[in-house]
Amino acid sequence: MAYDVVIIGSGPGGYVCAIKAAQLGLKTAVVEKNATFGGTCLNIGCIPSKALLHASEMFAEAGHSFDTLGVEVTPKLNLKKMMAHKDATVAANVNGVAFLFKKNKIDSFHGTGKVVAAGRVSVTGEDGKIEEIETRNIVIATGSDVAGIPGVKVDIDEKVIVSSTGALSLAKVPGHLVVVGGGVIGLELGSVWARLGAKVTVVEFLDTILGGMDGEVSKQFHRMLSKQGFEFKLGAKVTGVAKAKKGATVTFEPVKGGAAETIEADAVLIATGRSAYSDSLGLKEAGVEVDERGRVKTDGHLRTNVPGIYAIGDVIAGPMLAHKAEDEGVAVAESIAGQAGHVNYDVIPSVVYTSPEIASVGKTEEELKKAGIDYKAGKFPFTANGRARAMLHTDGFVKILADKASDRVLGVHIVGFGAGEMIHEAAVLMEFGGSSEDLARTCHAHPTMSEAVKEAALATFFKPIHI
Ligand SMILES: Cc1cc2nc3c(=O)[nH]c(=O)nc-3n(C[C@H](O)[C@H](O)[C@H](O)COP(=O)(O)OP(=O)(O)OC[C@H]3O[C@@H](n4cnc5c(N)ncnc54)[C@H](O)[C@@H]3O)c2cc1C
Repeated sequence: MAYDVVIIGSGPGGYVCAIKAAQLGLKTAVVEKNATFGGTCLNIGCIPSKALLHASEMFAEAGHSFDTLGVEVTPKLNLKKMMAHKDATVAANVNGVAFLFKKNKIDSFHGTGKVVAAGRVSVTGEDGKIEEIETRNIVIATGSDVAGIPGVKVDIDEKVIVSSTGALSLAKVPGHLVVVGGGVIGLELGSVWARLGAKVTVVEFLDTILGGMDGEVSKQFHRMLSKQGFEFKLGAKVTGVAKAKKGATVTFEPVKGGAAETIEADAVLIATGRSAYSDSLGLKEAGVEVDERGRVKTDGHLRTNVPGIYAIGDVIAGPMLAHKAEDEGVAVAESIAGQAGHVNYDVIPSVVYTSPEIASVGKTEEELKKAGIDYKAGKFPFTANGRARAMLHTDGFVKILADKASDRVLGVHIVGFGAGEMIHEAAVLMEFGGSSEDLARTCHAHPTMSEAVKEAALATFFKPIHI
């Protein structure tokens, strides 16, 4: 047998799985159809979006808050240079993966992979040549692709009507950007262009933005973004997106019924979600089952119904997050190596990298109510945090939800500057089954934004000190 494991796809699920497998002594190969490794996340997702989010945040801060801090500057946008920073960040990351493959003696095949049967993967190169690889195990890590608007034909040209990919490379700041979809990707990329000067209108089907997040968080965040100049059309069903002589138009109507409205835009971002990328992988012929949404079906050990074939990441059910894919990659590599691979799906943090950031881990209030769990909540606002005041970052709050009887922490939600870093102390606490009292009695350095986490824990378990 040529390989112990062949992984199709080199996104965060696939490349991490490959490295872990090689570290555990398995002979490993990766098949990737893109010119570079790293998948959606490194090439057209997490990494380039964060490069632009950071750069645009610096631009906005220089224009808005520097003056109050006694720093007088007049920022001038150099979009080409900002894009070059983004491209250099992507290049450093994808080259890093190539380096790690070499270091760990992982073979790579460039071409489109297909599951022929258990133990056999075919790779079709750009020249059309087909190569077949034998392997004890196959891991499907083919990720996801942009989903369109259900029932609406949209011609995405990545210039005027763009997906997230085009929105990462617009040649100039659009006067008016209409974002279809008020989820994470829409609000992050909308924030980038809003900070650089675009008027941004978000059209969302639900009555709330960030559907699925804690209700209080999305309500407050809605207010914050409105203050930043975002316009929202909520409960609105998009029925058409069309190119116009100049720019494009978006037509929508109230979900509850009513008159349709059409707005003009210089650019339209379709950010209605992503769907599993499982087509033309030969899954049907190989007998691998997929669900009604095209996601590969797996059991609790990430095994498909065909022995020796596993699947991880965006191509299976669960949150479409890079770190979820990575952890599944590690778990599968460990299982194949005879270890006890496991992912704790109850403690997967998620972050929205807007300004302020939003981070959460565990259950929302709505989920706890629905499950009939008796809980208590403690909150602390950043307006009462000294470090936040010193940095002019007083927007937001920390909310902790704990089981009423046992005090075990069940969910933590943070809206605030640096929330994406702060959430991890909550994740560690929850991984170890900690209580709000455990968190409240843990000494936190002063002055830090994280003291608000401690105060929220104090508020959950007894009373906060500083409010
Ligand atoms: C704009 C944007 C921003 C995002 N930001 C974040 C973020 O901040 N944090 C976060 O956690 N997540 C973020 N995500 C989501 C994240 O990118 C995905 O959850 C993650 O990439 C999933 O990893 P994966 O390994 O399952 O698949 P992918 O990263 O999609 O990788 C799959 C790989 O498989 C390859 N492939 C597919 N089919 C074949 C085939 N037949 N043969 C060979 N190769 C194949 C593809 O070319 C691709 O390289 C973002 C996504 C987008 C679009």
